[in-house]
Amino acid sequence: MLILTCPYCGVKAEETELSPGGEAHLKRVGPGGTAEEFEAYLFARKNIKGVHFERWRHAYGCGKWFLAARDTHTMQVYGTYKAQTAHATDEIVANARQARAEWVPDWPQGSEAVVG
Ligand SMILES: [Zn+2]
Repeated sequence: MLILTCPYCGVKAEETELSPGGEAHLKRVGPGGTAEEFEAYLFARKNIKGVHFERWRHAYGCGKWFLAARDTHTMQVYGTYKAQTAHATDEIVANARQARAEWVPDWPQGSEAVVG
């Protein structure tokens, strides 16, 4: 069973207390986007076997949305973080890299990082 710690209320919630929200960190397509970009935003998902970032809602708890990093192959949870966060924390990245050394985050690291 999947157990995730809600970053807002601190409760370790079983999967039955949570509602899944799909892939995390999707970028919305603006008014100038093409039909293909909008289609990709709506339907294209990574479906990764390995390190994956997901949205979850603590439906039977505080009700807030949060993000989780876990391994879709081993079910290992690397950590959870607040939904307003642009990317996973350094601690979560370190946990993922410890389990999967070949994995590299797909967002800018260190001085390249821009929070927006
Ligand atoms: Zn909660």
